[in-house]
Amino acid sequence: MGAEIVEIIRHVLRDVSSGGLEEPRIEESDWADDPQVLSAMIYSIRDSTGQGVSVKGDLPRAEQLVSVADQVQEWVIEENGPTNSNWPQCPWHPNNHPLAAQLVDDQGVWACPVLNTPAALIGELSQKGLDG
Ligand SMILES: [Zn+2]
Repeated sequence: MGAEIVEIIRHVLRDVSSGGLEEPRIEESDWADDPQVLSAMIYSIRDSTGQGVSVKGDLPRAEQLVSVADQVQEWVIEENGPTNSNWPQCPWHPNNHPLAAQLVDDQGVWACPVLNTPAALIGELSQKGLDG
């Protein structure tokens, strides 16, 4: 049951690595002990403290992506401390809050929680042309 969620986590981790942050190690794990629930663990490279990630297997893919993005975001903020508590940074309010994973038009997006405006598709933060 783990392979599918690992793929979703990897999708979200594209945004983690494009943000210059350390990616976690992913391990398939049936810790949820529920055949309806996909589960895995993500571990910091630096230490072995892991966080469980889980999502209901019967949700539409986009909803699974939003849920997993939310959990990965929690891990990133926990892992990187105050310096990255704004990941992913809101382009409109870079000092106020991070973007939030939301479902918009059946797509998982990172959106400003105040303006409710999508900034990027989840997994595609890097394609916003930040390389200039
Ligand atoms: Zn904002």
